[in-house]
Amino acid sequence: MNVFQSAQRLSRVKPSPTVVLSARVASLMAAGRDVLGLVAGEPDFDTPDNIKAAASDAIARGETKYTAVDGTPALKDAVASKFQRENGLNYERDQVIVSTGGKQVIYNALMASVSAGDEIIIPAPYWVSYPEIVLLAEGTPVIVPCGADRGFKLAAADLEAAITPRTRWVILNSPSNPSGAAYTKAELKALTDVLVRHPHVWVLTDDIYEHLTYGGFAFATPAQIEPKLYDRTLTMNGVSKTYCMTGWRIGYAAGPRPLIKAMAAIQSHSTTNPSSISQAAALEALTGSQDFIAKHVAEFEKRRNMVVDRINTIDGLVCHKPEGAFYVFPSCAEFIGARRPDGGAITSDEDFVLYLMDHAGVGLVHGSAFGFPGYFRLSYAASTQRLEQGLERIAAACADLERVETPAAVLA
Ligand code: PLP
Repeated sequence: MNVFQSAQRLSRVKPSPTVVLSARVASLMAAGRDVLGLVAGEPDFDTPDNIKAAASDAIARGETKYTAVDGTPALKDAVASKFQRENGLNYERDQVIVSTGGKQVIYNALMASVSAGDEIIIPAPYWVSYPEIVLLAEGTPVIVPCGADRGFKLAAADLEAAITPRTRWVILNSPSNPSGAAYTKAELKALTDVLVRHPHVWVLTDDIYEHLTYGGFAFATPAQIEPKLYDRTLTMNGVSKTYCMTGWRIGYAAGPRPLIKAMAAIQSHSTTNPSSISQAAALEALTGSQDFIAKHVAEFEKRRNMVVDRINTIDGLVCHKPEGAFYVFPSCAEFIGARRPDGGAITSDEDFVLYLMDHAGVGLVHGSAFGFPGYFRLSYAASTQRLEQGLERIAAACADLERVETPAAVLA
């Protein structure tokens, strides 16, 4: 029979909902609909010119061939210097790997280390790919909900309670996609204190939004906070967000040699080296002028403040002010059960987001996509004008919803 049969492992995973939603926004726009997408997981700023020029120069020099699988020596040294300079972490060149985006770093790490039945602790709301990659690796995601009342951050007691003899990794992401939450040094220390007591648990820290924090927030990373975890921490980062290089596909990590070697082995049989040209560009990103970062951060901070304030004026929405990244994660719980103007009911956060897309032409992502129902993610990686327009539309669409009074019996 000529019928396509997908591999069994594929039945374990769902396609990325953020990619699916971006595609839906794009197709509505292609059909002539006026849709304002606030879905993007990438800065709306262009890649800086010095970085683009480094890529052109690399092409002109003929750096268009295979490189070492795990990255050029020059880029790995630049990564090691970055960790030393910005995070006070010492890594040798052979403790560093460069991959095709931060996503491939995480994929390599989990594929190289997780066996069937291994448990991976993932605080929710989480970046959509963590549980899916764990499932592809035949591991078991252990989701720990972290409510808005504690800023969407994992509490030490909840981490302790989630650890079992089968726990292999805990995945931390600060600042977070989708909540924007970032851990203070004290909050991280409380978590690392727990981890010190459980030497079989490794730490995968996704620091890709490191530079995007606001209000003087001081970024920190677990191996820096607790040197006792250095031998079991993979510190992951990349150029996508800080350097506006999402399309260039360069991510990197540093950690214990045997893990890095195993990750390189996986990479050697999948993509081989990341693009030689992108590696030259990333080298310039890490070693060239960093001045533009402060300008972008100032712009993002202005937008964050405007967006949070405006959302909190919309009756029925509640928005926590996050420390970083370029997302806010407001609650739409008060609209669950509400009646739409066409008489239909909003029965979930996904319904709410679809209503805003169809009724108001605003693209957002529902919280359940990130393992956290009752919320939605708005990306403010968009111009102030687009944001203002989008927020006006959201406010008007919310006002068109008829909320049902919570019966006194339920409140009692
Ligand atoms: N980690 C988080 C939390 C992200 O939000 C993203 C991208 O959206 C990535 C990793 C992957 O980034 P990259 O483009 O480098 O693969």
